Amino acid sequence: MITVHGIPDRIQIGPIWYTIEVVPELTGTGSDGESVWLEGTVRTYRQRIKIEERTGRGVKPIIVIHEAVHAILAQAGIDEHHENVVSALGFGIVSLIQDNPDLVSMIQAASDDDA
Ligand SMILES: [Zn+2]
Repeated sequence: MITVHGIPDRIQIGPIWYTIEVVPELTGTGSDGESVWLEGTVRTYRQRIKIEERTGRGVKPIIVIHEAVHAILAQAGIDEHHENVVSALGFGIVSLIQDNPDLVSMIQAASDDDA
């Protein structure tokens, strides 16, 4: 189901469903110990992704994919990974999907064939 924010309320990554929650404010602690504003977070063992409400409409899908990439890597046992690689994949995957609807159709058709 799509929420009022245009974001699905949950996504499946492998065998695990993650609830997506849009929250009014999301902060964390930066490397210098200072509080920092976050656009999204994922807690794999809690099966929860949080997206900051003020994040722009065009950026929200990138943040969802970004957090999903973190979850995919964590599920694969790759707990240590570079944030810049995850960021590049978040932007790159969303761009690939948005720019190539025929590719998305091909992927969906292949999934339907397996059912
Ligand atoms: Zn990240």
